Amino acid sequence: MTILSSSLSRIKPSPTIAVTQKARELKASGVDVIALGAGEPDFDTPDNVKEAAIEAIKKGDTKYTAVDGTQNLKDAIINKFNNENGLKYSREEISVGAGGKQVIFNAILASINPGDEVLIPAPYWVSYPDIVLLAGGIPKIVICEEEDEFKITAEKLKKNLSEKTKWIILNSPSNPTGSCYSKEELDIIALTLKDYPNVMIMSDDIYEHVVYDNFKFYTIAQNKSIFNRTLTINGVSKSYAMTGWRIGYAGGPADLIKAMAKIQSQSTTNPSSISQAAAVEALNGDQSFIKVRAKAFKDRRDFVVESLNAIPGINCLNPQGAFYVFPSCKKCIGKKHKELGVIKDDTDFVTKLLEKTGVAVVQGSAFGLEGFFRISYATSMENLEKAVKRISDFCSDLS
Ligand code: PLP
Repeated sequence: MTILSSSLSRIKPSPTIAVTQKARELKASGVDVIALGAGEPDFDTPDNVKEAAIEAIKKGDTKYTAVDGTQNLKDAIINKFNNENGLKYSREEISVGAGGKQVIFNAILASINPGDEVLIPAPYWVSYPDIVLLAGGIPKIVICEEEDEFKITAEKLKKNLSEKTKWIILNSPSNPTGSCYSKEELDIIALTLKDYPNVMIMSDDIYEHVVYDNFKFYTIAQNKSIFNRTLTINGVSKSYAMTGWRIGYAGGPADLIKAMAKIQSQSTTNPSSISQAAAVEALNGDQSFIKVRAKAFKDRRDFVVESLNAIPGINCLNPQGAFYVFPSCKKCIGKKHKELGVIKDDTDFVTKLLEKTGVAVVQGSAFGLEGFFRISYATSMENLEKAVKRISDFCSDLS
């Protein structure tokens, strides 16, 4: 007898959380681990945001709130979308959940019927396919090549769209590649989608504020032709270093937003009242630190990309956003490590790297593209210098 549901057999635990957990365990057992697996800024939540949370507790903002967000937070989100993205929403078109992940989960669960397909460009954020599978849908993975900067092209999009397509999920800047879609690229995608009026677009903009090299962030809902069928996802986790507070949000069509609230009302009820108060301050308060932090991330990216490209066997694109790089380890596969034997594939590469050097990274196949690995550089420069040296030593032991 099994007590577990059959839907559970369709999904796997998040591989990035698994690597982080493994790194934690190794560290606890005394191994000198450098964890580059987690997708979490190493900066602290700003003080004004913490103060707002303390104030909320003192004021007694400690009760249930409206299911999909307090009016104050919805208004702050409406202003954010309007001021930063030129997107106009009313309160009925805004949903707040316990992290972007819950908002995405609600949207997929609220809209997928058995057999519906969701187009997911790969490499993808690890949770998209599993959320679709849990909802009974079919993730249609579209492999995007390194020479296209891991981005979906209009031709590939056309080839994979069908009567069954319910959603396409876009994520720019991307986790795991750091690639960003320009306005021109997104306008071409929007134009292609004009011929498929029933396809919904999910734009996951959670890394919006982590961009470099004067990259001008653009989100696809800014293209008026598809605004009405786009759900724009964002949150405070990455931009405001608030991963533990669990606040994410979306703007989109009122009927979908209402359905998402129905699901949330029967699951978590509402996101934490205190975190919502903190998120209001994050969105309305001082924003100047965002640029300062993005500059720190840029310096790390510059260092990591340059150092990785100097290692024989490793090639790394120079992405314009997020805090990840997605280098190729294809040239190391099939080679023999002098102590650990042949590197069979990317999973073997990262496993042996962890075993030999204590550097924890995530294999590309976890994100739907083999032959690569993801490094999160949301850690100190000192850690990055050590990590890159260890990767370099590991690769020089391959022949
Ligand atoms: N989307 C992407 C691409 C992510 O990388 C993450 C977190 O790693 C999320 C959404 C969800 O973030 P949260 O649930 O913390 O808002």
